[in-house]
Amino acid sequence: MNFILGKYIIHYTKETIKALKIILLATLIMVAILALKYKPAYSVTIAGETFGYIDNKERLEKKINNFLNNTEGAIAFIEATINPEYNLVLINRNIQTKDSEVYAKVKDTAITTYRIYAITIDGEEKTRVDSEEEAEKIVNQVKEGLQEGVSLDLAIVEKYETQFNVSNREDALSTLTVIKDERVAAFEKAKAEEAARKAAEAAATRKVNTSINVSYDVNPIEIALIQPVSGTISSRFGARSSIRSSVHTGLDIACPLGTPIKAAASGVVSFGSMKGSYGNLIVISHSDTVQTYYAHCNSIVVSPGQTVNQGDIIGYVGTTGNSTGPHLHLEIRINGVAQNPQNYLYY
Ligand SMILES: [Zn+2]
Repeated sequence: MNFILGKYIIHYTKETIKALKIILLATLIMVAILALKYKPAYSVTIAGETFGYIDNKERLEKKINNFLNNTEGAIAFIEATINPEYNLVLINRNIQTKDSEVYAKVKDTAITTYRIYAITIDGEEKTRVDSEEEAEKIVNQVKEGLQEGVSLDLAIVEKYETQFNVSNREDALSTLTVIKDERVAAFEKAKAEEAARKAAEAAATRKVNTSINVSYDVNPIEIALIQPVSGTISSRFGARSSIRSSVHTGLDIACPLGTPIKAAASGVVSFGSMKGSYGNLIVISHSDTVQTYYAHCNSIVVSPGQTVNQGDIIGYVGTTGNSTGPHLHLEIRINGVAQNPQNYLYY
């Protein structure tokens, strides 16, 4: 019994191996035929549309990633706008694959964002360059030698843009220098105008006050005065006379023509020229409030702005202006109001 069964099994196994051999051979033939006609590839789908086939997915993806991760120079980042999808398929060996076309499509549709550096003046962009270092160099160069007070608020602003539009150093410098020169010119002009205004103001304060405001009080003055000339009092303060239409604002001291006139105290000459009925008039400012006037001079030897010491010769006695003979008309004014010189001198 066992023998018969064993025989069957052996026979059956032999048949099976034979059948398997046939199947294997057929498969090999089929694979060989397929391999001759077909090859494995990836179909590429972009935005739901079939684009074509590629040979090497890994190599293509690596190439695309290298492109997208490039941050050389001013490139901040690159973003792909399309995302190809790949599916493994068998294709006819005659079909051309498009690896480089897929790469080109990803590259051409990618958006590159650049990091650029704008240079602003008073917050307004004036020029732009491709690196922060370059921007700083340019700003420092523009600022060099810039005098204090010139309004030129330079700043560097980092910007991200998809257009790479920058200037070279030479152009950026020239753009900024034009503005700088304008600002410097405006500053110089304003400075000159201010100086002229101050000069005019100073000239205005040098205008001689010949008002007939007089005070008969003894007003204290902190300055010790000396007699500018010695001589005879010929007309007193406050007197009225036929040659004058109003009250006498000074004291007349008669003395020979050409007698030297001394400064009654130190001060700054604030007037020194012809002044109507005063003839040649010298005014010395001794302080913000006190001035002395020397009128009818034959000549004046000081000029406005000049500092004089007490006793310095400032001019010579004459009879210029409304005068009937050589004498010094002396006035002492406090805040423009004529005081009686005999309260301070020539007692
Ligand atoms: Zn007088």
